[in-house]
Amino acid sequence: MSAGIISVGDELLSGRTQDTNFPFLAQQLHLLGITVDMHLTVADCRSRLTKALSTLCGTCQLVLITGGLGPTSDDITRFALADILSSPLQLHGDGLQRIKAHFSRLDRPMAQVNRIQAMIPASAHIIDNSCGTAPGISAKLEGTHIFALPGVPHEMRTMFADHVEPAIKQLGLAERAMASTRLHCCGTGESNIFALIEDLMDRSGNPLVGLTVQDGIITISINAHADSPSAARLLVDQKTRLIESRIGAFLFGRDDQTLPQVVSELLTLKKQTLALAESCTAGLIAKLLTDVPGSSKFFLADLVTYCNQAKIRLLGVSEKILTRHGAVSTQCARAMAEGAMNRTDADWTLAVTGIAGPDGGTEEKPVGLVYIALAGKALDNGGDIIDVKEFKFSGDRPHIRSRVAVRLGHAPPRFATAARLAL
Ligand code: ATP
Repeated sequence: MSAGIISVGDELLSGRTQDTNFPFLAQQLHLLGITVDMHLTVADCRSRLTKALSTLCGTCQLVLITGGLGPTSDDITRFALADILSSPLQLHGDGLQRIKAHFSRLDRPMAQVNRIQAMIPASAHIIDNSCGTAPGISAKLEGTHIFALPGVPHEMRTMFADHVEPAIKQLGLAERAMASTRLHCCGTGESNIFALIEDLMDRSGNPLVGLTVQDGIITISINAHADSPSAARLLVDQKTRLIESRIGAFLFGRDDQTLPQVVSELLTLKKQTLALAESCTAGLIAKLLTDVPGSSKFFLADLVTYCNQAKIRLLGVSEKILTRHGAVSTQCARAMAEGAMNRTDADWTLAVTGIAGPDGGTEEKPVGLVYIALAGKALDNGGDIIDVKEFKFSGDRPHIRSRVAVRLGHAPPRFATAARLAL
C-alpha cells in the first residue's frame, strides 16, 4: 500500500510558510501502517497540480492533498481534480447549505465568492468542514482514493481525524497494526549511537529502527507492524529494551519527553535545586528550563555574568583566574559554577562560558570554544561533584548559542546520572 501527499501553495514554495501539513499527515499515515512514497509541493497552478495528481495517481493507492480549496482565483485544487477525473464541477446543494450555516454561526452574510467552495467534480464527494468554510473533496480515480483538504492547518487536522482517517480504515487501506517508540539521547554524537546499534538497524527489519538528529538530540525510532496492536507493542518493547541496554547513559527520554522536562521532573522528584551561571548563552538555558511549568520548584536563579566584572562581582571569580587563564577556560567555568553555588546555595549549578563569535576568536581559542561546568553539593553519600568539559561547536553565533543551550550545556546525562546517584 503506497501513499502520496501533495501540498499546494505558492507560499510554501517561496519559503514564506513552512509546510506543517505534510509532516502531520505523514505521521498519521505512518501510525496507520501506510508508507508515504512521494511528497510533492506544487504552486497554485491548475496545470501543474493536474500533472502532479496524474503522477501520484499512477503509482499510489492513496493521495492526500492540502490547500487550494479557498474561494479565490488562486485556489485551483477543485479545478485540477475536475480535470484529472474528467468530471465537470457542479454545485453541491448540501455543501452550499453547510457553508451558509457556517457564516450564519459567525453572524456574517456569505459572500457570493464563497459559492465556488460548494462546487465539486460531479463524480466526487464532499468532506464536511466543521471549523471553516472550505469543505474537502473525496474522489476515486481507478485504483486511487483521493482526499483533498483545506490548507489551514487546524481545519485540515480536524477533518483528517473526523473523516479521512475513518474512511481510510473503512476502505481497508490501513495496513497491519502498528506500534512505535522514540528514544532520545544526548551527550554523544550520532556516529557513536549508530555504532552501538548498527546491527539492529536492518532496513527491512520489523521493528524498523531509525536514527535522526535535531539540535544535537539524537532520536532512535522503533516501529513495528503486526497482526494486532498488542503483538506490535510487544515487538517494539523487546527491541526498545535491547537498544536501551546498549545506549545506557546517553538515553534521557522517550516519545514526547524533552530534555528540560526530564531535568525538571528529576530535580522536582529528588527535591533538589538548580542555579545557573551563564555567560555566552546569557539566559537561554534558563529560558528553556523555565518554559517547563512548575520550574519554580527546582529553579533558583540564573546569574547572567557576561563581562569579567560581573563574573568577579556576582560570582566571586578571582581576577587571577581571569588574567592567567581568561574568561573562556576550564578554570573560569569551574569558578563560575562554584561561585553560583556559594551565592545561591543550590544543590546543583551549571556554568557556561564560551566564544559565540563572530569576533573574539584566536588561534588558541577559536569561535565555538565553550566550557561547561557542573557542580553538585556534597550530598549524603559523597563529596562535591565538579565536572568541567570543553566543547568545540561550529556554525554562526545564533547556532553556537542555541546548540549549547538546547542540550542544557551538555550536562545531562551526566547531570541526570549524577542526580540519580546522589540520592
Ligand atoms: P482557505 O479556504 O482558508 O483559503 P485553502 O484550502 O484555500 O483554505 P490555502 O489558501 O492554500 O488553503 O491556505 C490557507 C492558509 O493555510 C494559508 O495561510 C496558508 O499559508 C496555510 N497553509 C496552506 N498550506 C499549508 C501547509 N502545507 N502547511 C502550513 N500551512 C499551510
